[in-house]
Amino acid sequence: MTILLLGSGGREHAFAWKMIQSPLCDTLFVAPGNAGTAAIANNIDISPTDFDAIKAFVLQEKVEMVVVGPEDPLVKGIYDFFLNDGELKHIPVIGPSKIGAQLEGSKEFAKEFLIKHNIPTAAYDSFTAETVEKGCEFLETLQPPYVLKADGLAAGKGVLIIQDLAEAKEELRNMLVHQKFGDASSKVVIEEFLDGIELSCFVLTDGKNYKILPTAKDYKRIGEGDTGLNTGGMGAVSPVPYVDAILMEKIETRIVKPTIDGFQKDGIPYKGFVFIGLINVNNEPIVIEYNVRMGDPETEVVVPRLKTDLVELFLAVANEKLDEITLEVDERSATTIMVVSGGYPEDFEKGKVISGLENIQDSIVFHAGTKLDNGNIVSNGGRVLTVTSYGNDFEEAIKKSYQNIDKLNFDKMYFRKDIGNDLK
Ligand code: AMP
Repeated sequence: MTILLLGSGGREHAFAWKMIQSPLCDTLFVAPGNAGTAAIANNIDISPTDFDAIKAFVLQEKVEMVVVGPEDPLVKGIYDFFLNDGELKHIPVIGPSKIGAQLEGSKEFAKEFLIKHNIPTAAYDSFTAETVEKGCEFLETLQPPYVLKADGLAAGKGVLIIQDLAEAKEELRNMLVHQKFGDASSKVVIEEFLDGIELSCFVLTDGKNYKILPTAKDYKRIGEGDTGLNTGGMGAVSPVPYVDAILMEKIETRIVKPTIDGFQKDGIPYKGFVFIGLINVNNEPIVIEYNVRMGDPETEVVVPRLKTDLVELFLAVANEKLDEITLEVDERSATTIMVVSGGYPEDFEKGKVISGLENIQDSIVFHAGTKLDNGNIVSNGGRVLTVTSYGNDFEEAIKKSYQNIDKLNFDKMYFRKDIGNDLK
């Protein structure tokens, strides 16, 4: 098959790495990709949201399947774009329909879906500029801390957790009246704060059947000890040692199954990944968010643990035959540690030459923000690359990743040295 993968991060390099191992994959294109995908597939300079350019390319190269990495093209409706086009409709797109992608594109839509299908979630209400004073009154009925969520996509920055009531009211006004997050905060969901351990559950579905993928935990903050600003993710571990079979059973029966059944009941076409953000409150898993794609860097530990052919899985998704596949998972632990540009997630410099990649042993380097420049691999983003390793336990895997990171170098390179310490 000829396959087109959309995206340019570590997630997409991990997908590409796995997909090219499949005997079903003859040619893989990545749009736009990075220096890592360039080494194993064919990068093409097309934006994942430029649907017309994607159409022209798909027809020209006779692409037979499109796999979507990031959320933007999904929320903009790439699935429906293909389905509604006479020349493209026979080509499967791995990802949800536009309405399905609203689970990530609109917090209010997600909350309504959760409530409608009786899936455990935090109590909430939603407000607009017209009802901002009602929102302030609602805040008064809650206990601190206060959770304010911009309804729309805000590049992962749209959730505020605030201790002080007066400050929460001010931020609510900033979001609704002063468009703190632009259009994304023209509506705000105010949610009850849940106190517990966060975890993520990844599911692949064909809209009827589903497979629960290995569990993973990511490390969001820039600083050691989980301090400082939020980032896209500084590392990840799979499996999550504290998720036992009893908790997994609760997650499946109370959350995963009702979610997929909800797609059926509501007539939502959904052929792709569902990433469910949960908080475990006294052993009761409660949903705080849906994402409609895989997590990054969680993909860089989940995909390496899949023994099953990923292209075979995608084909089963396209043909609604996921029930016919047995998911095989590598029993070993996998960890990944993200190497970033100094200054990230605030200002940072790009174009730094990365050295030492040829010395990596017994780990996999997935590129994120990298590009080729005059024969050199240079940094091209905040998160630059991530080093994934296997181990008999996560401690062994982490040790390998750190040993290999020590062989890498670029100007102002930074990484967290405490990934996994909380699990020991
Ligand atoms: P989200 O974008 O919904 O994942 O929110 C970003 C982060 O805010 C999450 O990873 C949680 O750490 C936190 N969060 C979101 N909702 C809640 C909640 N209801 N209670 C406690 N923390 C939350």
